[in-house]
Amino acid sequence: MLSDDDRIRYGRQIVYPGFGEVGQEKLQASHVLVVGVGGLGCAASMYLTYAGIGHITLIDDDSVELSNLNRQMLHWERDIGKKKPVSAANKLRRINSGIRITSLCKKVTEDNADQIINGADVVIDGLDNFQTRFVLNAACVRQKTPFIHTGVNGLLGQITSIVPGKTPCLACIYSTPPVSEETIPVFGATPAVMASLQVMEAIKLIAGFGETLEGRMLYFNGESMEFAYEDLVKNPKCGVCGTGRRNLKENRK
Ligand SMILES: [Zn+2]
Repeated sequence: MLSDDDRIRYGRQIVYPGFGEVGQEKLQASHVLVVGVGGLGCAASMYLTYAGIGHITLIDDDSVELSNLNRQMLHWERDIGKKKPVSAANKLRRINSGIRITSLCKKVTEDNADQIINGADVVIDGLDNFQTRFVLNAACVRQKTPFIHTGVNGLLGQITSIVPGKTPCLACIYSTPPVSEETIPVFGATPAVMASLQVMEAIKLIAGFGETLEGRMLYFNGESMEFAYEDLVKNPKCGVCGTGRRNLKENRK
């Protein structure tokens, strides 16, 4: 239920055609998990907080370093050395005291991924490596939880919404995890653009309106200022969401 203050705070989005108070109530009732509280995760969690997502969980095992401060907008100079989810949650609670923020200072692994995702309505990829993205993708497929995959490099970004049972998953798109560079170049504005797109996707997936990036990869090129799309194809033999998964199980017997 929205309070009188909620109606004022979220008034400019409640008036959006096709969203309304019903849409705002859906956001209020939702739980979004942000995996990685770096450039993408900071900007995404800010806009989730502004939008009034009822419960946001932040997960990261890293601590804030000076070299993060060109892009990770919720971490400030005085936060160097603090755990990223704690540093971010401190600021988010001051932006919006009407929502719940949970900080988890740990790494997502094969062993804990399902438990961490359990209960989330949408999972946001704020990671910087495909190894962990693949772990997360497989757990999201098992839990049937929408996963907004995003990657950034320099002035480039890519984003797609993976909806288990409906769209290709990350393992359909990449047969093996691409190797990430040791130090990925990045300007702060790139994750800010991509994180804004992530939150737009999350809002539409939760409230159920508009056209999402289900089955499409959107590529952003900040050097040429172009957006491009690619239709994604499901791999029927995918080891995560296709028949390859059953075969794997059978082979284990
Ligand atoms: Zn797949």
